[in-house]
Amino acid sequence: MTVAAVVGLGTMGAGIAAVMARGGLSVRAFDIEPAAVERARGELPAIAGLLDRLGLPAKGDAMAVAFAGSLKEAVEGADLVLENVPERLELKLEVFRQLDALTTPDCVLASDTSGIPITKLQAVVSNPQRVVGMHWSNPPHLIPMIEVVAGELTGAATRDWMVALIRALGLLPVTVKKDVPGFVENRVLYAIMREALDLVEQGVIEPEDLDTCVSWGIGYKLAIVGPMALLDMAGLDIYQSVASYLNPELSRRQDVPPVIAERTAAGRLGLKTGGGLFDYAPEDLQSLRARRAQRFVAVRKALEEG
Ligand code: NAD
Repeated sequence: MTVAAVVGLGTMGAGIAAVMARGGLSVRAFDIEPAAVERARGELPAIAGLLDRLGLPAKGDAMAVAFAGSLKEAVEGADLVLENVPERLELKLEVFRQLDALTTPDCVLASDTSGIPITKLQAVVSNPQRVVGMHWSNPPHLIPMIEVVAGELTGAATRDWMVALIRALGLLPVTVKKDVPGFVENRVLYAIMREALDLVEQGVIEPEDLDTCVSWGIGYKLAIVGPMALLDMAGLDIYQSVASYLNPELSRRQDVPPVIAERTAAGRLGLKTGGGLFDYAPEDLQSLRARRAQRFVAVRKALEEG
């Protein structure tokens, strides 16, 4: 049985550990903060319930996550370690140095980094061909796509092993062949965010209408027909003529737009502070999260069955 260790149990860790456990891996989990361990432990039943509702093949029990008391205990003898600590280069380098010392030489060392180059992490590991990006999407127990990112020194065998593992979990691997900043998912998402924020800031549209436009006009469509297939559906001649006048009009801003910078400075960070671009009443948060999870499950099932 493949032994996997998840290191860092914040926003992403519990969902990832549960998916791996349900997929039949023997999963150990570790966080330096005892409070994070307890939170992750407490999240497992609800996550396991969602995985049941998704109807994913149950090769194992999503609740069967062993919480380890130390990094050494978590990673010793593991076949895979997924680093999931905060997005700070120095911290990740330190964790990779420790993993290099604590794991067997053929243990695959993966990072869930959203954009730190995998090549930088490879620099502190003695056999860097075993280091690979495994970039999950949030919420990790609901979004089936995972980017497999090859750094400059990632071995083809490591990349292929990771792709096969993700498939065996019943999920969808995509291979990112070059270690570009932000990989692919976030580059596309941030291109959308930049244009959306610019339109709101210019007063072209209200935030609620922007979300309706993107979710029901673009998002719904893209879930069924991806951008490449959509170009063929629309006709490349149409793209050629629209792009020729529209591309020069699109936002090219290099900085973080004021609509975000001002709110961030004022502590308006979104759901976690009760308000961001929208306001949230504390008593509504639980039902908002539950409704979103329910809709994720329903849409994914419909897309998988369709
Ligand atoms: P987070 O801050 O919510 O959680 C990180 C956890 O790591 C914390 O519980 C912290 O106590 C723990 N930690 C810190 N140092 C540690 C150490 N030395 N050993 C063990 N645990 C340690 O972060 P997150 O949002 O879960 O993100 C983790 C990684 O996943 C980041 O690289 C992030 O870019 C990436 N990611 C995040 C999202 C997202 O939407 N949050 C999506 C995809 C990928």
